[in-house]
Amino acid sequence: MIKVTTVPVKSYLSKSKIPGADYAINPYIGCPHKCLYCYAKYMIKFSAHTEAWGDFLDVKIAQTPLRPAQLFHAHVLLSSVTDPYNPFEQKYGLTRKILAQLADAQAYVSVLTKSPLIVRDIDLLQQLPQCEAGLSFSGADETLRARIEPGAASICAKIEALKTLHAHGIRTAVMIAPLLPQLTDWEKIITLTRPYTDTYRIDRLNMRTTILRPVMDFIEMYYPHLLPLYRDLFLRQQTEYWDHLSHTIRAYVQQERLAAEVFF
Ligand code: SF4
Repeated sequence: MIKVTTVPVKSYLSKSKIPGADYAINPYIGCPHKCLYCYAKYMIKFSAHTEAWGDFLDVKIAQTPLRPAQLFHAHVLLSSVTDPYNPFEQKYGLTRKILAQLADAQAYVSVLTKSPLIVRDIDLLQQLPQCEAGLSFSGADETLRARIEPGAASICAKIEALKTLHAHGIRTAVMIAPLLPQLTDWEKIITLTRPYTDTYRIDRLNMRTTILRPVMDFIEMYYPHLLPLYRDLFLRQQTEYWDHLSHTIRAYVQQERLAAEVFF
């Protein structure tokens, strides 16, 4: 059961420290996708919530509209610490309303989601002067996906969404992250998405303090044979595995002439 609350905020817009983005817009606080590895869990400490991450959602109601002059050709990221197309977006439509304002302002927009609901807004995405629609994958195995991202859409549904976006002329990106050692079949994700993807972004699992225990418990429960490796990588901070994987992926994308950024 997810506790949903509407909360007034001054504005949806916040300055972004993410390279390439002037602003970030997070229409919601919390995220019902409930990914085990979610780095945005730290947001709980800025709220009064006692529920676990994924069990609450604050629906932000901004008191002032976005200012078009401020956003003209500014690069806006939707979103950085929530999923703008979480299942409650169907009911509240905040992301759609915000996108309409961004289209009026002629902002440059990058969207990142794990939901096929993004295709609902193709009409607005097409009105933006620059737009990139990103779908995020942490694996190509649906059993793993259901365990680790229980509230998010299936792999097939996300691929269908990519296909639809691409067919409507929207520039698409696939984020392969986080790479889970021995679990994320990054090459299969590329094979499945390649016909509909303009660019790839690939990153490893970065183990923040808030997710260390849940991830290690998860590995112990479902993939106990991988526990020694995970201990080496995340408790003993061994780097050889990552160096080798980074080298392998870089060589692959170069050989396949893929537009890709590898962040580790
Ligand atoms: S979709 Fe993104 S913001 Fe939502 S729980 Fe997963 S990682 Fe966190």
